[in-house]
Parts: sequence; C-alpha cells; structure tokens
Amino acid sequence: MRYTILDCYTDEPAGLGVPPYIGTYPRYITGYLLQQGHEVDYITIDDLRLLKKYNNIKKEPTEKEKTNIRIYNTTGKPIQKILDKTENLIIILGVHVPGKYLSAIPGTLREITPLIKDINCKKILSGPAIYGTQLEGGKFFEKAKEDMFNKIENFKFSYDEIAEYAIRGADIVKNIPGHRIIEIETSRGCSRKSGCSFCTEILKSRLQFRKQEDIIKEIKKFTDLGMKYFRLGKQSCFYAYPGAAKLLKDIRKECPNIKILHIDNVNPANVIKDEKDGAPITRAIVQYCSPGNVAAFGAESFDPVVCKENNLNSDAETTYNAIRILNKYGSEIGSSGLPKFLPGINILFGLKGESKKTHEENMHWLKKILDNNMLVRRINIRQVSIFEGTRLYEECGNKFLKKNRKYYWKWRNQIRQEIDYPLLKRLVPEGAILKDAQSEIYDGKTTFLRQIGTYPLIIGVKKRLPLNKFYNIKVTGHMLRSIIGEEI
Ligand code: SF4
Repeated sequence: MRYTILDCYTDEPAGLGVPPYIGTYPRYITGYLLQQGHEVDYITIDDLRLLKKYNNIKKEPTEKEKTNIRIYNTTGKPIQKILDKTENLIIILGVHVPGKYLSAIPGTLREITPLIKDINCKKILSGPAIYGTQLEGGKFFEKAKEDMFNKIENFKFSYDEIAEYAIRGADIVKNIPGHRIIEIETSRGCSRKSGCSFCTEILKSRLQFRKQEDIIKEIKKFTDLGMKYFRLGKQSCFYAYPGAAKLLKDIRKECPNIKILHIDNVNPANVIKDEKDGAPITRAIVQYCSPGNVAAFGAESFDPVVCKENNLNSDAETTYNAIRILNKYGSEIGSSGLPKFLPGINILFGLKGESKKTHEENMHWLKKILDNNMLVRRINIRQVSIFEGTRLYEECGNKFLKKNRKYYWKWRNQIRQEIDYPLLKRLVPEGAILKDAQSEIYDGKTTFLRQIGTYPLIIGVKKRLPLNKFYNIKVTGHMLRSIIGEEI
C-alpha cells in the first residue's frame, strides 16, 4: 500500500517535533510501515499549505515583508502527484506545550480539516492530538471529531519494536532539505508515582527506558545519513536515565561526526542527587555535550502553595540549588560563544492555588538568582493548556486562568524587564561573539539568525543576509529576549 505521512509537527512536555526539529512520530511510523512492506512518502503541513492556499507559488519577501513561515518548511516534492497516489494519509499532529516558533507554525485540527477534505484516500490521525491539542496556552484542548478521520490511531510501539523502526524510519530525513535537529528518545513516562496536575506524559505511558545500544544505533544511522545535530530531548528527565553519563561518553565514541549534542528536560531534584554522588552526570554533560546546552527545569512555580496543590516535582529551594549546581559546573564559555551547560526555567501560569502571592514568590526567587550572580539560559513563561484526564482538568479546569488572566501580561512583563533582560546581558554581553548562527528569516530589512541547538537565542542583524548560511555574530545590543548583532 502507498502511505503518506503528513507532518503537522508536535510539541509535548517531553519531545519536540517542530522544525528545525524532526520529532519521533513520523520517523517511527515510517519505520513501521516500511517494515510492513509499504511505500511511504513524507510531506509537511507547509507543503500542503503551499499547494492548497498559495497555488504552489513561494514568493520571496520584499524588503517590507516578513518571510512567510507558514510555507517555510517545504520538502520541494511534487505534492499533488504524491497525494494523487496516496492510499492512506497519516496525519501527525498535536501541540501540548505551545511555544513561539521562529520559522514554523504547527498545523491545527481546524486548519487541516478543509485542507485534507478533498484528498481521496483513507485518513488516519496520530500523534499527541489523539489526547487533544492546543496551539495557544491558557485554553482547553481541541479534540478530534471522529468523523473528520477514518481512524484515530495511537501507533503505540514497544521499545523492542522501536529498536527496528527507528533505524528504518531514519531514512525519512532524505526527504528534508536543510538542517534538522534530530530529537532522540531516551525514555517515556515519568519516574514520579503521581505526576504534576497538568501533565499528559504520565497519562500516556508508564516509565520505561530505551536500551543504550538502541539509542546509539539510531544516532549512528542518522550520522551515516549525514545528520549532525542531535538533542536527547524525548524524556521527562535526562538525569533519570540509568547510565546517563556512560550513554553520552559512548555516543561521542561511536558517532564522531556529531556536531551538536544537547539534552532537554531535567528534574532539579535529580541534579541534587547526582551532586551528592560527585556529579557524574553533570560532569559528563559538560564534557561530552556541545556548548549552549540547557537543562530545562520544569519548575513551573516557586510558590509553595502552587507546588503543593499541583504536586509539582520541585519546590523553590530544590530548583534554586539545582540552578546553583549547574552554574558551578557549566557556566564556562564554550567554543560556540555560549556557556557550556546552564539551567533553563519553565514557569506556568494558571495552576491550581495561583494567587498574587505566586508572582511575588516567583519574583523573590528569580531576583535571588540574579543577585547571586548566577546565569539562567532562558525563562519560559506560558499559560497552562488544560487536557482531559489530568488532575487539573478534573479539579479546577480553567478557574485560576480565568481569575488571574488579567495579571498575566503584567507578571510576565515584570519578569522579562527585571530578570530576563539583565540575565541576557550577563549571558552574552556586548562584544561577545556567537559562532555559527544560521540566517533563517527576514522581517523587513532585518535578518533573524539562530545557532543550531536547543533553545537558541534569536539574533537580529539589521540588514538582509542571504538565508540558510552560517555567520559569526558580534553582540551589539539586547532586546528583552533576543540579541542585536552584526556579522563579522
Ligand atoms: S515531572 Fe511532572 S511534568 Fe514532568 S513528566 Fe513527570 S508528571 Fe509530567
């Protein structure tokens, strides 16, 4: 049979599949289908938009326009021809932790419904959307209506199956022009017995770890295909992986062609545990990963009431101490111009028990970090999305979001002005050089660039540089969360 994967991109607490990332869903499903003897094509939502909404014409933006990121990540393939031959269309979709994306916009259920309506084939929905999806924070999930699709399928593969599918499915990258970061899975589920009130990860899977040899085989296959950028990002906590330090050491030994190796989610409590053992994991991350690396701490809140009411994985003291530890080992500047390994903090608005006091607590601890001369790579602030089956959904829904929404702009702005801005200036002072930043999009006469890797800083250069090229950038100024620079 002829299958086509339509990648509408995915973003979950544990796992990113929005370009420049390529997520695990399209890769594993492709591997499974190939193993069954089917033919598989890969297209993106950008391909479908270009065909259906832009008459297949991609215009260069004039000096007054922005790059159209709705059609930025096209494959360049003959999409109509592929769709005409398609017997089964697998739509991979689902955003559970909405973010702002510089060069992509994930497809939503609402958007794809008219776009796929007249495609004459069987339509199967998969990806995180089977649990609901929401591109904007602070809202209830959107759920797929059964009649929009012929089937809604989970494709739940065991790690033994994935050992094979991941290798076969890696070939998908042959369809994708440009650079992609391969999001690599190390585990699923969460080590906590009862999880955080808002989280869907524990609803989806029980705790399991992939075998080290399978992870390395997969990365090796990708490097054989010429891929150079990797993030060990699909897991709830990288430190929880048994033998995490050895995994990194062996990846470097077996896959010498990797250019960037980063990690993602980390539970601050595990950083403290590791420190008590002599910090083998933190040290290995600093030694074997690439500079600019970030441990994203799902702190969510520094308010003890919110921490307790939502059963969060870390209290303020624990998060603070973990930030201190990572600064101790990782704050040295690496070859990219950024510190080697720093914490990132996620803050979530709209959780149970949230009050004005919550913001005061958040500000108190963030100021303490600033006053004690520490670095934080980035602070992510978002409004919680509420998913069916979570404790938040059952216990209070959007009660706190509704109650406090009027303060969010002010709270967020205060954090941006008083914390983010001085932190960013400390992180990359004027005159600092950031190496190998890729020019990605235009906004009028400004070009925006990012280094390839986890949570890259956005750099604006006030002239039009040719896109998809790499530049070394000297920092000349700072915006609240981005940098102004010039190429050298
Ligand atoms: S620590 Fe909390 S947010 Fe993270 S995976 Fe576990 S339950 Fe989810």
